[in-house]
Amino acid sequence: MSGRIYNFSAGPGVMPVPVLERAAAEMLSWQGRGLSVMEMSHRGAEFIDIAQRAEASLRALMGIPDPYRVLFLQGGATLQFAMVPLNLRAAGASADYVLTGQWSAKAIEEARRGGAVRVVASGEAARYTAIPPRDQWDCDPSAAYLHYTSNETIGGVQFADVPDSGAVPLVCDMSSDILSKPIDVSRFGLIYAGAQKNIGPAGLTVVIVREDLLGRAPAGTAAMLDYKVQAASGSMYNTPPTWAIYVAGLVFDWIAGQGGLAAMLRLNREKADVLYAALDATEFYRCPVSTADRSLMNVPFTLRDAALDARFLAGAEAAGLAQLQGHRSVGGMRASLYNAMPIKGVRALVDYMREFERTHG
Ligand SMILES: *Cc1c(COP(=O)(O)O)cnc(C)c1O
Repeated sequence: MSGRIYNFSAGPGVMPVPVLERAAAEMLSWQGRGLSVMEMSHRGAEFIDIAQRAEASLRALMGIPDPYRVLFLQGGATLQFAMVPLNLRAAGASADYVLTGQWSAKAIEEARRGGAVRVVASGEAARYTAIPPRDQWDCDPSAAYLHYTSNETIGGVQFADVPDSGAVPLVCDMSSDILSKPIDVSRFGLIYAGAQKNIGPAGLTVVIVREDLLGRAPAGTAAMLDYKVQAASGSMYNTPPTWAIYVAGLVFDWIAGQGGLAAMLRLNREKADVLYAALDATEFYRCPVSTADRSLMNVPFTLRDAALDARFLAGAEAAGLAQLQGHRSVGGMRASLYNAMPIKGVRALVDYMREFERTHG
């Protein structure tokens, strides 16, 4: 499609063009019904079917086993920072957290509001450029759960494997790498993800929760914040984010059509390899993250001479390479390579980087 830029935004992120085209084609009249999905009753047969199909597609893609419920909620991953401890940590109990960067830090900060938190491992001393090895974690076998962030969107560190939590329920903030590779859902007690990185429009939050973890919220918990209430109402306790659920369903189908999560992983690995190889081939650019923990989704890098940052970004923008500025807290650059970023976009970025080095190095 003409006029499209390569969008390296960390979130809301790039969407697959065929999904946007389909949503556009169906905007005025979904499947000939004379109205858009946005205008449908969430209790009507048409929308219930759209939501059920979206859930079925997600279950098929991720291989979600039967005793897990899929919830389509709102409030972002940030509300899950509060809902997880509220629902899963009983009064007086403590929860374990792995601190690997700014998002896990926010999850910890929120969990501390309501009760006891133990930080079992921290990457702070290494300025969050590496993930503390699993064998050095100081885990509590009686913790209510063990929480980690599979991909730190800002720092660009990612867990290559699912960590072992023994009998303690494993909880994961998967906001920025869900659907980027196959994962074994049965290893988790609960997975949550804001949609706007790899799933679809902002406003939808996906929660995948093992059934036995429902019904643990304390008496007096607001209904909207109780996983059990949300599960019992099929995520329709109130009006769900209907349009976002519909578009997410289109994204799930698009991923399936590309060959599913194994195909996503192959593509994501290829894209990341191209960019990291370019970064490692020169002193002009630098990625601060330890090789083993580098993210396939978010690649932070700096220029040797930070005085060139503004010129780099302006030139990139002019070349149709958008939103490469690093997070405001860390500066430098960050290229996000979510599922919908084509390999051509990464090659265009690398070509631009080489040319910029040739003219400014
Ligand atoms: C973006 C992000 C969040 C915050 O998501 P919101 O939907 O804005 O609440 C939390 N965790 C991670 C890993 C993220 O990438």
